[in-house]
Amino acid sequence: MKNILVFNVGSSSLKYSFFSNRKKLYTENFERLKEKKDFEKAVSKIAEKLHGQKIDLIAHRVVHGGELNKPSKVDKKVKEIIKKFSEFAPLHNPNQLRVIEICEKKFKQSQYAVFDTMFFSDLPDIAKIYPIPKEITKKHKIRRYGFHGLSHKFVSRGLKGKTITCHLGSGSSISAIEDEKPLDTSMGLTPLEGLVMGTRSGTIDPGLILFLEKQGYNTKKILTEKSGLKGLCGHNDFRDILSSMKTSKDCKLAYNIFIYKIIKIIGSYIAALNGLDNLVFTAAIGENVPKLREDICKNLSFLGVKLNNEKNKRNKELISSGTSKVKVYVKKTNEDEQIVREVLKCF
Ligand code: ADP
Repeated sequence: MKNILVFNVGSSSLKYSFFSNRKKLYTENFERLKEKKDFEKAVSKIAEKLHGQKIDLIAHRVVHGGELNKPSKVDKKVKEIIKKFSEFAPLHNPNQLRVIEICEKKFKQSQYAVFDTMFFSDLPDIAKIYPIPKEITKKHKIRRYGFHGLSHKFVSRGLKGKTITCHLGSGSSISAIEDEKPLDTSMGLTPLEGLVMGTRSGTIDPGLILFLEKQGYNTKKILTEKSGLKGLCGHNDFRDILSSMKTSKDCKLAYNIFIYKIIKIIGSYIAALNGLDNLVFTAAIGENVPKLREDICKNLSFLGVKLNNEKNKRNKELISSGTSKVKVYVKKTNEDEQIVREVLKCF
């Protein structure tokens, strides 16, 4: 298996990467895709670009794999599971299935689905089970599945001891990991749980959901598309928030709520892990915003966390000072490379 074509499909984007002998040869991101024909056009362009290349296998990132805990060769049953769990990942799974089906027509190679949920398949029961009636849990396969697993796994690789990884992008999640094994993560049954995100509320009082429903609001739309940073200040692009913070009270508050939630989850995971050796920041916000890392680490001074300000400003890989009791890293995530690593384990 030398030549692998990787698809990473989002809610309105399609990124492909072509790897040969684990080296990325080509990559391109198609954005603002809406209808099926937009995705078909993107796949046709990729097929044209790769014409003449030998492709051994196609791998797709799929957000929710339910009980599938390893890369799975796409067949009727796997497609049914991806469809079934679309209920819990409605922005991603349907598009990812759509692209798998387009590829079935355009390419003849075997396709594998690699799931964001895989990394968390063995979460301990205390982290994975919701305190609701157990019959309901069983009937609907309800549990905390966790997401961004490919990214959390990629950036925690090789880190021994107690590690917290913060994936901060338009969707955000934090994981507690010990010796490369995940013990908890902030997203749950769906990617709506946990931190404040670009347009998602993250965790709120379940009573608030009941109230909104009673008032006749479209709760799903409000909590997934109109909440989070966008709901707080009108912007969901973090760069806009950073540039408006000095003049806009709403942006300042949105920033403060965003980092306060991160600090609270990190604090709870330090307790769950009973200590901390490594703290990792990743994804576009985690990798590019020194002020945010500084503001978060200020609240961890009680643990002996100390940043090297120069290195932090320059987004270097190791940003803690020589005397810090915890190593603090900025690591560039690479889900596509992780997909290749995962799929190669199958052969
Ligand atoms: P996802 O993969 O979840 O779509 P990304 O990791 O690409 O997300 O993160 C996207 C978000 O990161 C955007 O909403 C944008 O606000 C923010 N972002 C991207 N680049 C930067 C940057 N250089 N500085 C601050 N924020 C950034």
